[in-house]
Order: sequence, then C-alpha cells, then structure tokens
Amino acid sequence: VIPAPFAYARASSLREALERLAADGGATRPLAGGQSLLPLMKLRLAQPERLLDIGRLAELRGVRSLSDGRVAVGALATWADLLADPSVMPYGCLADTLPGIADLQVRHRGTIGGSLAHADPASDIAAPLLALGAEVVVRSIRGERAIPMADLDLGPFATALEPDELIVEVRLPGPRADAGSAYRSLRQPASGYPIAGVAVVAGGGLAAIGVTGVGEVPYRATAAEAALRAGAGLAEVAALVTEGIRVAADVHADARYRAAMAGVMARRALEAALARV
Ligand SMILES: Cc1cc2nc3c(=O)[nH]c(=O)nc-3n(C[C@H](O)[C@H](O)[C@H](O)COP(=O)(O)OP(=O)(O)OC[C@H]3O[C@@H](n4cnc5c(N)ncnc54)[C@H](O)[C@@H]3O)c2cc1C
Repeated sequence: VIPAPFAYARASSLREALERLAADGGATRPLAGGQSLLPLMKLRLAQPERLLDIGRLAELRGVRSLSDGRVAVGALATWADLLADPSVMPYGCLADTLPGIADLQVRHRGTIGGSLAHADPASDIAAPLLALGAEVVVRSIRGERAIPMADLDLGPFATALEPDELIVEVRLPGPRADAGSAYRSLRQPASGYPIAGVAVVAGGGLAAIGVTGVGEVPYRATAAEAALRAGAGLAEVAALVTEGIRVAADVHADARYRAAMAGVMARRALEAALARV
C-alpha cells in the first residue's frame, strides 16, 4: 500500500499543464481527484515517474450551456458538482446514475474526466454518455479534437487519448422534451460498481442503449436499438442487449448471470425511459 517514488507538480494553468505533458514523452500522468489513480499506485499497478496535479485548474471546472443548445461539462466536475447542477439534472439517465456512483466521499473527489480517462469497463457514467451520444473534447499543445463517446475506449483501461492529451470537457446534446431517458444497474454491494448497467434514451425518433459492466468495454447495444426502432416489444429488445458481446465473468457474476441481469436492467431502463417521454 505504499506507492513507488514519484515526483509531484501542480499545474497553475491549462497551458502549463499541456506544455508539461508534451515535454516528457509520456512519463507524466495527470492527477485529478485521485480516486482511481492513487489506489492503483498504492498497489503498484501504476508507477508513474511524475504526477501532474490538474485538480485546481479553473478552466476545467463548471458546466455551461453552448449557443447551439448543447451542455458542456468541465472535465474536473465532480459527481457531487453534477448532482447539484440544474443543467445536468434534466437528463433523466444522469439523474439516475450520479447518486449511485461510489459513496459520498468519492463523489466529492472523483471527476467525470478522470473516470473517462481511467476507462474502467464498469464505469457507471459511460452508459448514459453512450446513450446520449456525448462527445469527449481533448486538448494538447497540438490542438483540440472531439472524440465520440463510442470511440473513446479501445479496451479495458485503454482509451484513444494520446499521452500528451487532456480531457477538457464532455459535450452533451441539449435535453429533449420529446424523449425520455433512464439508467438502471445491479450494483456490486461493496464498491457500488455496476455488475450490469443499462442506460436508455427513447422517444422523439431516438432509440439509444448504452451498456456498462458487461463487455470488455462499455458499448452501444445496436441490435437492441434496431429492435426498439422497429417497434419490437420491450422483452424482445431487452433480450438483445448482450447480442454479439463476449460477456465478462468474475467473482461477482458468471457470464450467464451477468447477461441475464443485463437483460433485466435493460427492461427496467426501457420502462423508466418510456414513462418519462
Ligand atoms: C471506493 C470507490 C468506489 C467507486 N465506485 C464507483 C462506482 O460505483 N462507479 C463508478 O463509475 N466509479 C466508481 N469509482 C471511481 C470514481 O468514480 C472516480 O471518480 C473515477 O474513477 C476517477 O476520477 P478521478 O478524478 O479520481 O481520477 P484520477 O484517479 O485522478 O485519475 C484517473 C485516471 O485518469 C487520468 N486523468 C484524470 N483526469 C484526466 C483528464 N482530465 N484528462 C486526461 N487524463 C486524466 C489519470 O492520469 C488517471 O490515469 C469508485 C472509486 C472508489 C475509490
């Protein structure tokens, strides 16, 4: 439980942070809320030479509405910040997800950007962000690019981010009055992480289903989405939620049980989302 030696620096501006990350060819890891990185370091599963604390960068905080109606969430927004934000709560699937992430202490330290960069295959927030069609905006000294949420995770704990890139914000399509959304998960009792979590956005021509905790990475359940769009019954749609996915097995759930629970959570999320249209 004692990390390997590392150097620590705190960035005082976004520009400085990006320059430092660019300067040393990947030896520096950003530190946001520390809720995932520090436990890994204590177990020596991560041994960064240098930590760059970005936790006080005002540029990465807050939630703002964009002129085109989208909502931009700063990478350093904590779960507690988002729970208290009136522009985030209208998204039913986010209002469902946020209170169930971890515990009170972790929710006050852990950030949305840190969670996305960590790329845990069971990250709660991944499911609603996939279903909403969110974009993850990343920046380096080379410029800025937007990565669709569906393209962010390349594998368990691996993302499309380059070592010199920081997540700066997450952009959500504007809330829709003609669609409803919901998230339902079976939580692992000790950590709160989902054994299976499903987010649904439905109505107004939308049929999007994000799934987490089930496959190698969180994913869009495209076969179930197509069935929903075609007017299939909810039981049929829910049964397709793991179609084409190699379902994970671990000490908490074997693959058959996890797949069954994904179906149950899908059914519940579908019912709740449609009731909110
Ligand atoms: C006890 C416990 C229970 C938890 N339960 C849940 C749960 O139920 N559901 C759930 O989804 N999560 C859970 N978490 C994780 C939690 O949600 C953290 O918020 C999240 O995983 C990491 O956020 P952080 O800000 O602490 O990131 P850090 O730990 O600071 O960083 C994590 C990784 O992201 C990188 N990073 C951080 N910020 C950026 C950025 N802006 N740009 C690029 N890279 C960046 C770091 O270098 C590191 O690799 C739990 C954590 C704990 C400790």
